[in-house]
Amino acid sequence: MSALSNKVAIVTGASSGIGYATAKLFAREGAKVVVAARRQPELDALVEEITQAGGHAVALVGDVKDERFAKDLVDLAKARFGGLDVAFNNAGTIGGMGASPDVSLSEWEDTIRTNLTSAFLGAKYQIPAMLDRRGGSLIFTSTLVGYTVGFPGTAAYAASKAGLIGLTQVLASEFGAKGIRVNALLPGGTDTPMGRAFASTPEALAFVQGLHALKRIALPDEIAKSALYLASDASSFTTGSALLADGGASISRT
Ligand code: NAP
Repeated sequence: MSALSNKVAIVTGASSGIGYATAKLFAREGAKVVVAARRQPELDALVEEITQAGGHAVALVGDVKDERFAKDLVDLAKARFGGLDVAFNNAGTIGGMGASPDVSLSEWEDTIRTNLTSAFLGAKYQIPAMLDRRGGSLIFTSTLVGYTVGFPGTAAYAASKAGLIGLTQVLASEFGAKGIRVNALLPGGTDTPMGRAFASTPEALAFVQGLHALKRIALPDEIAKSALYLASDASSFTTGSALLADGGASISRT
């Protein structure tokens, strides 16, 4: 039996990077997957790939900042696949970068809404659906930035992602008795469009790689495996955690 047999999962931020890789892995492990992002062609390609491989997926295009989209995703999971067991709330933006006094209020608010408010909205609709199934697993993609590391120029990003850890802890304690586990996943540098934007020159990439004990950044598939761990019964006694999958970037000083 596969790790997610008979499970239904939502994956946001599925049009690229970590979300794309995770949606494919979840489907390979038996989950029926609702994939979400703003870009339709990328989602269509993902659904096609999953279907060609014998899996089940459906796409919904929308913006995670919208409450209506959070509700529509859960309604689609129920209508197409009969319910919801796993939600990988992964969509995110690096947002407005720069010295904190130079970040505009609108950049700040957009980053907080995309990375943090979206998670609250997701959970607001996902949890009742999971209660109907007497359990489930919620995962939020956070980061080491703002948790173990303070990177200059990332105030809004760090604050939004640190906020996810507080949200994780509260939801885990509110719904643990009902069989719902809630965890944050904290990747290190990962080779995705966002990761490449953060390290956009060979020198910047070498610097970022050097921050990690493993002296490299992750492939999206490696982070997807950590998401699978949190989604599946392999992590049945893990809740309220901030799981570092950061190649040792938090502990490395070399
Ligand atoms: P990515 O390839 O740029 O993917 C970001 C995803 O989020 C895309 O699918 C994008 O889709 C979606 N997204 C962004 N804003 C959205 C919105 N308003 N509504 C709906 N979807 C939205 O980057 P990634 O590295 O895979 O990032 C995934 C997550 O990992 C993020 O939360 C990021 O903060 C986190 N993370 C990344 C790294 C890294 O080094 N790459 C490290 C730590 C944590 P559309 O553009 O199609 O909407």
